[in-house]
Amino acid sequence: MSTPVSSWGRLGAPLHHLKALHNTQVLPDDRTGKGLAFGNGRSYGDVCLNPDGVLWTTQGLDRFMAFDDANGLLTCEAGILLRDIQRLVVARGWMLPVTPGTQLITLGGAIANDVHGKNHHVMGSFGDHVQSLRLLRTDGEIIECGPNEQASWFQATVGGMGLTGVITQATLQLRRIHGPWLQTENEPFSDLSSFFDMADTSEADWEHTVSWVDCLNKKGRGVFMRANHAETQSERMPAKGLLGIPVVPPVSLVNPLSLRPFNWAYYQMQARKRNTALVHYEPFFHPLDNVKNWNRIYGPKGFYQYQSVVPRSTGKKAVLAMLDTISRSGEGSFLAVLKTFGNRPSVGMMSFPMPGVTLALDFPNKGTKTQSLLRSLDDIVRTAGGRIYAAKDATMPRDLFERGYPRLKEFMQYRDPRIS
Ligand SMILES: Cc1cc2nc3c(=O)[nH]c(=O)nc-3n(C[C@H](O)[C@H](O)[C@H](O)COP(=O)(O)OP(=O)(O)OC[C@H]3O[C@@H](n4cnc5c(N)ncnc54)[C@H](O)[C@@H]3O)c2cc1C
Repeated sequence: MSTPVSSWGRLGAPLHHLKALHNTQVLPDDRTGKGLAFGNGRSYGDVCLNPDGVLWTTQGLDRFMAFDDANGLLTCEAGILLRDIQRLVVARGWMLPVTPGTQLITLGGAIANDVHGKNHHVMGSFGDHVQSLRLLRTDGEIIECGPNEQASWFQATVGGMGLTGVITQATLQLRRIHGPWLQTENEPFSDLSSFFDMADTSEADWEHTVSWVDCLNKKGRGVFMRANHAETQSERMPAKGLLGIPVVPPVSLVNPLSLRPFNWAYYQMQARKRNTALVHYEPFFHPLDNVKNWNRIYGPKGFYQYQSVVPRSTGKKAVLAMLDTISRSGEGSFLAVLKTFGNRPSVGMMSFPMPGVTLALDFPNKGTKTQSLLRSLDDIVRTAGGRIYAAKDATMPRDLFERGYPRLKEFMQYRDPRIS
């Protein structure tokens, strides 16, 4: 039976044959074509989809296998959500060293896209903390690999978008924490030069840095947020309660009429103050996880997320050019994120992070109009020597993919021929 499946961007719901994985020794035998592992579908574009083909759903692979409490080593199956790992280990004084903007993703999805958080300049990306993983190939071969064991298989699989096999389990090195709280500080900036100054002066003393940027402001004003893990315990509990978008509105609620006043008001509100606060890690790292189905606000046609990274040398010019292009188009979203990546190489051959500055924005899907805007952004990224993040992408041109990922040819040797 075929089932419609969407990614987080809701750009469509192509039919798939779903096969739930429970057995970690062998993939289900099928004659319906090539397959692909599916985690929790939190990728925005098409990287987790295989239209008319098979999706091996992994959430049944949900066992915790071993936890070395003294050294922070955790082994578990790949379908477990990062949220569930955090809730188990935070209470014991440990935490995942790297978490993306949502914790509702699987361990397998985190490795396959080598996800990054707000602390790349200190901790690198997710793959830097994987000690070993088990890979199941479609021919039944099981490959155990890690940074020092079958290292080339490891480098191909971290960031390998599920194309080297199905990750069935992994061992992670966690980091020590005193508790779940972060000491945070927000400061407005009026243009992009100030953003880069703040990034340069903050990175030595602050582990987490990220900025909201007003995508309709050509100068690149925004709000810089930084945080460190707090050493003090707090008795306060984080605010509970799940908001939700109950239905898909008939049109996108994010449009020029709503966007300009929102961005203006948000910036003015933040510009008046430089504020500090003690914040629980869940709302700080994953602010949108508390709004169920927030992706519905873009209406029935869904939305594109566009995340690029460009080198620091071309970064300011490229980000200004992108903001100018977006501002002139009147498109964009409330959720525009700007951050710097540290100067450290990624483990994965196909990992997205590279030294530079990354900009991520959502665009409601308006068909060819939006696609032509994305092509203009591609031109800027191409000229600046940057790359696009496959976890977010649905429209990347082939040449930009090939240029952006110089280890592609090497990676192709590790592809599993029966994975799409
Ligand atoms: C609100 C939000 C915020 C986000 N913020 C960030 C961020 O800050 N940083 C960042 O890097 N990303 C971010 N993302 C993207 C997200 O972290 C990635 O797309 C992640 O890979 C999704 O994981 P998933 O479990 O949902 O996997 P899916 O989306 O289902 O799959 C992603 C890829 O992983 C492969 N895969 C999944 N499981 C396995 C497995 N067991 N074995 C082999 N391959 C597998 C799939 O084939 C696919 O290629 C964000 C997404 C959302 C919705």
